Amino acid sequence: MRHIRLGPAILLRLETGDEIFSSVTELARAEGIGAASLSGIGAAYGVVLGYYDRRTKEYTRTTVEEEVEIVSLVGNIALKDGQPFPHMHVTISGRDFRTMAGHLFEGRTGGTVEVVITPLAGFVHRRKDDATGLFLLDV
Ligand code: ZN
Repeated sequence: MRHIRLGPAILLRLETGDEIFSSVTELARAEGIGAASLSGIGAAYGVVLGYYDRRTKEYTRTTVEEEVEIVSLVGNIALKDGQPFPHMHVTISGRDFRTMAGHLFEGRTGGTVEVVITPLAGFVHRRKDDATGLFLLDV
């Protein structure tokens, strides 16, 4: 994992094999980010996607083992239990150019993953919401 600060933004480059969720979390903690937006592109394998079922309050997960393009990685960073925590969604496509998408639980970097993190002023916490079962932005 490599990164450079460009003005207020941080450009992150993940290297082959780097796990995406934990890498973004690690950088956010190292930089003390309390709120941010992020976007990225690249390629990944072993991608674990989630679909949240609001009735059961549980995620259904599926794993895409083969290497895929990350067409779009979008999300934000807020504080959960006092620590920076990324919430990311991805759209991925494979050799057949069809896309799959969902909540990103994990994935390993293929050739590269490029993420631009834009920290926001201040911080935002996530708090458990009993109605949805989710940790929602406390705004
Ligand atoms: Zn999500």
